[in-house]
Amino acid sequence: MLPALLVLGSSSVLPADPPRPWVGFHMFAPSDPAAFLQIKDLVAKGLKPLGVNALILEFTSDSFAYQSVPELKPFARGVGKKEARELATFCRAQGVRVIPQLNCVGHQSWAETTYGLLKAFPDIDETPGQFPDNKGIYCRSWCTSNPKSYQIVFRLIDELLDAFQADAFHVGMDEVFLIGHQSCPLCRGKDPGELFANAVKRLHAHLKTKRATMLMWGDRLLDGRATGYGEWEASTNGTHTAIDRIPKDIVVCDWHYEERPSYPSLEILQQKGFRVWPAGWRSEAATAAFLEDSRRKATPRMMGHLFTTWGGGPEQFLAALTAPDSAAKPEGAAEWWNVGRLVRRFAPQVAKDPAFGAKP
Ligand SMILES: [Zn+2]
Repeated sequence: MLPALLVLGSSSVLPADPPRPWVGFHMFAPSDPAAFLQIKDLVAKGLKPLGVNALILEFTSDSFAYQSVPELKPFARGVGKKEARELATFCRAQGVRVIPQLNCVGHQSWAETTYGLLKAFPDIDETPGQFPDNKGIYCRSWCTSNPKSYQIVFRLIDELLDAFQADAFHVGMDEVFLIGHQSCPLCRGKDPGELFANAVKRLHAHLKTKRATMLMWGDRLLDGRATGYGEWEASTNGTHTAIDRIPKDIVVCDWHYEERPSYPSLEILQQKGFRVWPAGWRSEAATAAFLEDSRRKATPRMMGHLFTTWGGGPEQFLAALTAPDSAAKPEGAAEWWNVGRLVRRFAPQVAKDPAFGAKP
């Protein structure tokens, strides 16, 4: 028998981090390598000093130079493993955890642009040949019933996990409107809640083999009518019944961007057994209200707060995060300014709030 110290000599069995708030920053990963590597400055000079300790980098099937799916190569470009590894190493040394994200199921197009995945593999499109130029729909989806969808997507996930040497992965899954569609021969007539749950379970099982924690957006798990959240922040297309059919060790990123007196999803998701990471955006009043309700309703499953951005680059965020409190909004500055300002105001509070800090 080996001495215990030798057996325990890998980092995976070091004592778990003490519970501490997850203070997260979510942004689109720039596809230009130089801009991507500016995130190092953003982390070191902007985010870390404010207490941010997790960075979610969202990729599409186009915005990373994937190597494992040859059919995607004409579409996928930009940042690759080299840059990802460099950034991840840097962030780890700063104490900031990088969590890559790839939107699964929904968000496979934006406006008239369909992303490379469904261009390269139109046979896994949930609505094959329907909605030319994406007119009349929000975003395209991939088919949750087709095994080929998973064969391809798992390769992309594995590449991102490897490139960032990540121990957690965000699968997106927000705002899925096309699921169980009548034009899909594999899905038509099926229960959207079951289809959605099956997709969640397959992604979760795969990530489990990689020992990676799974994160996802929470809107499709919430009943839009019962909660009063409506069809965007929650589901009115039947997916919400998935909430009782999926593993409880998923971190649910519960996004809400409007000011409300109460956010019922906070207690619903915690009561169901999920760790909850509330996510806000752009409005200081809404973020303050959401944070206050998160504090009030916090159980040991309440993680902290995730600041989302939805547009803007590392240099812009750094400018907004580091400008003095008295600074006026620069002319022409878009929402990245508001986002930066509210991170500057709220992140240090979240970082030291004893109400937050579920175990990773
Ligand atoms: Zn389908």
